[in-house]
Amino acid sequence: MLKIYSDPEPVNDGLDEILALAEEAEGPPPLPEGGIPKQWLPGFIRWPVRLILLPFICIDLAAQRFARLLIRPPFKKEGACLKRGNCCHYILVPEAKGLLGKLFYFWNTQVLGFYRRKPEVYESDGKRIYVMGCRYFKKDGSCGQYFLRPTVCRKWPIIEYFGYPRIIKGCGYKVVPKK
Ligand code: SF4
Repeated sequence: MLKIYSDPEPVNDGLDEILALAEEAEGPPPLPEGGIPKQWLPGFIRWPVRLILLPFICIDLAAQRFARLLIRPPFKKEGACLKRGNCCHYILVPEAKGLLGKLFYFWNTQVLGFYRRKPEVYESDGKRIYVMGCRYFKKDGSCGQYFLRPTVCRKWPIIEYFGYPRIIKGCGYKVVPKK
């Protein structure tokens, strides 16, 4: 059950409504008030960091693919990305507590370039969730940083071992049970 987390942040629509909006949207959602916030971490720091981490990300993803060959998840995805961009417009980032949480937020916003689309914090399955957008999404539906895109973008849509995978309707992918 999804519900809005009302304290201490302001409240707006429920997360389910936002995801439904993402499925139905024909165009990009409005930008945050005041536009996309600037990153204060300079590019000469964040881009080399992302480049240095790229081989580790690739190795990690290859290891996960290999593990999935050995232990197969119950579903597989079929289809292809239609470049509607809704998964890039509504990135759900869990809030984490303490110093690690601050680092996680810093990583997502200052290094990866995501930004808070709305000031509200939502709750899903007991986790507080931020809804973020990505500054690198291009008007033609492509990724402006495809080579250095984050892990979540490389894995999306994610097929988990448990539960029914949630895919944004109309994105071009569908999930089918493995035989
Ligand atoms: S980095 Fe690219 S794929 Fe990932 S959210 Fe941004 S535009 Fe989309």
